[in-house]
Amino acid sequence: MNVVATPRLAADFAGIRAQFPLLARTVHGGKPLVYLDNANTSQKPLGVIEAVDRFYRERNANVARAVHALSEEATNLYEGARSALARFINAGSPQELVLTSGTTMATNMVAYSYLLPRLQPGDVVLTTTMEHHANIVPWQLVCQRTGAHVVAAPIRSNGELDVEGFIALLDPRVKLACVTHVSNVLGTINPVAELASACRSRGIPLLVDGSQAVPHLPVDVRAIGCDFYAFTGHKMCGPTGTGGLWARREILQSMVPFFGGGEMIREVRIEDSTFADPPARFEAGTPNIAGFVGLAEAVRFLESVGMAHIAEREHGLLQYATARLHEVPGLRIIGEAPRKAAVISFLVEGAHAHDLATLLDLEGIAVRSGHHCAHPLMRHFGVPATCRASFAFYNTEQEADLLVAALLKARALLA
Ligand code: PLP
Repeated sequence: MNVVATPRLAADFAGIRAQFPLLARTVHGGKPLVYLDNANTSQKPLGVIEAVDRFYRERNANVARAVHALSEEATNLYEGARSALARFINAGSPQELVLTSGTTMATNMVAYSYLLPRLQPGDVVLTTTMEHHANIVPWQLVCQRTGAHVVAAPIRSNGELDVEGFIALLDPRVKLACVTHVSNVLGTINPVAELASACRSRGIPLLVDGSQAVPHLPVDVRAIGCDFYAFTGHKMCGPTGTGGLWARREILQSMVPFFGGGEMIREVRIEDSTFADPPARFEAGTPNIAGFVGLAEAVRFLESVGMAHIAEREHGLLQYATARLHEVPGLRIIGEAPRKAAVISFLVEGAHAHDLATLLDLEGIAVRSGHHCAHPLMRHFGVPATCRASFAFYNTEQEADLLVAALLKARALLA
C-alpha cells in the first residue's frame, strides 16, 4: 500500500511535539501514552502552562475593579486575550467577542439573550442531525418555553450534511439556523460560508459551532458571513473554562443580558438597572482570568506554528491513519465525507466500542468511546456508541501504527 507521510513537515513537528510535557508520560506500568482524544480536549504546550503559573505567581488580581497596579496589569492581560482571540478568528473588533467558559456557555447565551425574546409559538430553530448536544439542547429549552420547536436538517450516509436539505428547510418560521463547522464525531467539514449565504439571503441568522474548527483550520468569521460563531479554549491548547462567542456588533447590541451581576451594569437601583455595552453586558462576575491569560498564549503558540501548517499536517495524519485503519478486518469507519478533519469514528465487528477502548487503553492508547454527546447522530447511524480516534498536529504516523497494532490485538482477544 502506498501510504505517504509528510516528511517536509514531520521534522518541524517533532520539535513542536516536544513542547507538550504531558505527551512524554507513560501509563499502565510504562506504556508510552498515545493521546488520540484531542476532539475531547487538547494537551497544553509548556508556554501555556507557564503563562498560567506566572499569572498566579506575579500578576494575580481581579479585573476592572480596582485602580491599583496589579489590577491594571490583570485587566490589560485579560483584554489582551480578547484582542488576541478576536484577531485569531478575524473579528471586526475585540468588542465583538464575548469571553465565555466555552461553547456550551456561548450557545446558551444565544438561546437566552438573543432567541428567547424573539420566539413565538410555531417558530422553528433549525439545527442538523450531526450536532453536539450543546448545539441542540439550549434551543430545545427556549423552544419549550415559547411553543416553538427544533428541526434537524438531514445528513447523508457518508456523514456529509445534506446542504440542499438544509437550505430547503430555511422557511420564514426559522428564527435561527445552527450548524457545526466541523463534526466532533464524523470529522465532516461543513460548507459554512455557503450555508451562511443561503441564510443571509433569507434574513435568517446563522450560528456556527466552531469548537472543532478553530483548533484545526484557519477560521475567518467575517469571510464565513455567519452571525454567531462559538468556540471553546480547551480544545485549542488553552485552559479549560475558556472560550468565546463572536457576534456581529449590531446583534450583540440588540441582545438582553442572560446573567446579571457585577461588571455587566451601567447603573443599578433597587427597582431596575441599566446595562453596559457589549461585550461587558454578557460577562457578569469574575471571569477565568488566568485561563484567558493561558488561552492568549495558546493563540500565540498556534499562530507561531501556523494554522495552514496545522491543517496540512493533520490532513496528512488523517489520510495515513484512515488508510492504516482500513487494514483492520471488520473495522468500519463512520463518517467518510470528502472534506474531513482528523477525527475518525469507527466500530469493529463483534466488539463493543467501550470494550475496544478499554483494551486500547491498556496498550497506552487514549481514544474516546461512547455517544460523543451526539445522541441524534448515533440514532441516525443506528449505533449506541463508536470509538473515536482524534488527532492533533503533535500526533505522529507512528502513533497511528500503534493504534492499528493495538486494534489487531484487541480484535483477536474479543473474537
Ligand atoms: N460543540 C462541539 C462540536 C464539541 O465537540 C464540543 C465539545 O466536545 C462542544 C460543542 C462543547 O464544548 P464545551 O464543553 O467546551 O463547552
